[in-house]
Amino acid sequence: MINLKRIVRKNIIALEAYSSARNEFTGKTGVFLDANENPYGELNRYPDPFQNELKERLAQLKQTEIQNIFIGNGSDEVIDLAFRIFCNPGFDKALTFSPTYGMYTVSAAINDVELINLSLNEKFKIDQEKLIPYLNDAQIKLLFICSPNNPTGNLIDKNSILFILNNFKGIMLIDEAYIDFSEEESLINLTQKFNNLIVIQTFSKAWGLAAARVGIAYANSEIISFYNKIKPPYNISELNQKAALKALSNQHEFQHNLTEISQEKRRLRNELQHLPIVKKIYPSEANFLLVEFDKAPKIYSQLIKKGIITRNRNKQIRNCLRISIGTVAENQKLLKALKNIK
Ligand code: PMP
Repeated sequence: MINLKRIVRKNIIALEAYSSARNEFTGKTGVFLDANENPYGELNRYPDPFQNELKERLAQLKQTEIQNIFIGNGSDEVIDLAFRIFCNPGFDKALTFSPTYGMYTVSAAINDVELINLSLNEKFKIDQEKLIPYLNDAQIKLLFICSPNNPTGNLIDKNSILFILNNFKGIMLIDEAYIDFSEEESLINLTQKFNNLIVIQTFSKAWGLAAARVGIAYANSEIISFYNKIKPPYNISELNQKAALKALSNQHEFQHNLTEISQEKRRLRNELQHLPIVKKIYPSEANFLLVEFDKAPKIYSQLIKKGIITRNRNKQIRNCLRISIGTVAENQKLLKALKNIK
C-alpha cells in the first residue's frame, strides 16, 4: 500500500471543500428554500452533487462500491482533476507513452506540469528498459496508460501494467475509454489491490453518450475522496445523470450496438485490405481502425471533398488515418469513396 497523503498536494490535503446546500441537507422531500433556486420550472433544482443513483447502478454493474466511483464531466475532467490533486504546478511531472490520446499532454500543459513522453515500440508496446530509470523519480506523480490505446487500437500488455504497478510509487491511470469494444476484461479489479491505481472509463464510446459528457474513475476510496473534495459542486447535470441511467437500463441496446460495431469493423477491415491504396491495417481492440495509406494527407483531403471526415494522424504515425466504425451505410460510403481515389 502506498501512503497517498505523501503524494497528494499539500494545499489539497489542507483544503476545506465547498459545502453545497445539497451536501448539508440530503433529504428528498420538504419545502426547499436553501439553495436560492427558482421555485418555478422543470430544471429549477440543483442535481445530486454525488450522483448516488448513477453510482449505485454502476457499482452493481462493475461489482464495486459507490465509494470507489467518481463521475466526471467526461473523462477529460477525470484526467484534469488528477493533475490538480497530485501535481504541484511548475515542479511535479507526469509520464505517458506516445502515440496516445492528446489530452494527457494538453492537461499537463494547462496545469504547468512537464509530461515525459516515452515512445511505444514498433508494435506499440511499452519498452520496459526505457521506462525503468523513471520509475523511482518521486517527482513523477502520474503515469498514464491508454488501453486500448488511441490512436493505435491495441491493448497494452497486462504484464507491463503489473510491472509498473509493482514498481512505481506514484499514481497510475489506465484509460479504458474503449475497453467495452475489446475481448479483454477491464482492470477495475486491480484497484482493490493497488491503492495508487485509477481506472478511467466513459459513457462517450460504447454507451453512445458523447454529447452527455459522463466519465468515470474507479479507484481506492481515499483517491475518490480527494476527487470529491476538489470537484465543482454540481459537475454532472441532472439531464446527463438521467441520460447515463437510461443508457444503463437498456443493456439490450448496448449489446446490440456493440455487436453491430464489431461486425462492421471486421467487414470494413476485409474490404479495406483489398484496396491498392491501403498499405496496412493495424489490429484494433477499439471502435476504430488505424490505416496506413500511400499518401495519407492526400487521401484525407480527398475524403473531405466527398463529405467523409476521418482523423489525420500522419503527424503521430506516418501516413496513417484513424477511421471510426460508422453505420453500415456510412462505411459503404467510405468504401465507395476510397475505391474511386486513384
Ligand atoms: N480517453 C480517450 C482514450 C479518448 O479517446 C477520449 C475521447 N476521444 C477520452 C478519454 C475523452 O472522453 P470523454 O468524452 O469521456 O471526455
